[in-house]
Amino acid sequence: MTTSAGFLTLRLSDPWREHDLIRQVTLPVQEGNILIGHLQVAVPLTDTQTDLRQFQLMLTLSLPITLLLIEFTGWRLGGIAMQPIRQAYAQLQRFTADASHELRSPLSAILTNAQVGQLLATDYPKIHPSLENIVESTKSMHVLVNNLLLLARHQGRLAPESLKLLNLNELLQNLTTRYTTEAASQSIKLISHLPDQAIELRADPDLLRQAVENLLSNACKYTPAGGTVWLRLESNSFGAIIQVIDTGIGIPAADLPYIFDRFYRVDTERTQESGGFGLGLAIVQQIVQAHDGRIHVMSTEGQGTTFQIELPL
Ligand code: ADP
Repeated sequence: MTTSAGFLTLRLSDPWREHDLIRQVTLPVQEGNILIGHLQVAVPLTDTQTDLRQFQLMLTLSLPITLLLIEFTGWRLGGIAMQPIRQAYAQLQRFTADASHELRSPLSAILTNAQVGQLLATDYPKIHPSLENIVESTKSMHVLVNNLLLLARHQGRLAPESLKLLNLNELLQNLTTRYTTEAASQSIKLISHLPDQAIELRADPDLLRQAVENLLSNACKYTPAGGTVWLRLESNSFGAIIQVIDTGIGIPAADLPYIFDRFYRVDTERTQESGGFGLGLAIVQQIVQAHDGRIHVMSTEGQGTTFQIELPL
């Protein structure tokens, strides 16, 4: 033991109790100016050590629990804060769906009456163009209202009962037959590449047909006479791959990030004569996402565009 004055913490030399520490204080004992000895007092630190070990264990265990609690509370609070936004969004969606639905009947009535008027007014050249205008505008409104209804109704994932086992080869073959005539009327060649082996998946047949139709219709719309449109189907490790490729006017790189946005149209000058509201691609994207799929676009201005839909099988 040391005899220097002051406080010291010492480890016991007993190998069986090697973790035991003692706290010792040494005080000199003097008689006058003569040092006659030292007074040493020591207390074991076993209790303090045990407390410290327990505290350390408690910290180790409570840290991840506290972190988990903070994370859970944050998630719950986030959910509660988002609730009014979700409700407002659902309300807006319901309003769009209801308004579109209610608008369909009067629009159909206007269209029918205008068409009847058009037939009766064939001998009145002053009235006929106005009625023709009404018919065309009503048809275009009908398309817009139907598209809005489609977007409002099929938000998010699809109900399981709307999914059916679908043969993609058959669906695309039907669409090829339908669009070959339309493409030919614009002097465009439509070529389809469908595999011999049937590719089947669970999907909403009407919606999937609508998605591919929108792409095919765009491909024909934005491809000048003499061009070619390909419709391809294959499968890979992700699932089914549907491609609509055209040799058309292409999409400028600056517009590519926005073409799936609602009402987005690439510069109005080139799209004015093709009509449309800029909802076609938004509908395609929504349908593909509702089927847990992905959609990609590659395009070079003046050379052509490729849209690729990937659907899990
Ligand atoms: P729109 O009704 O205007 O066709 P879409 O949502 O279908 O609306 O397309 C958005 C825009 O993307 C279009 O205005 C058009 O400029 C561009 N686009 C879509 N498909 C093609 C394509 N195959 N080739 C060139 N441009 C395209």
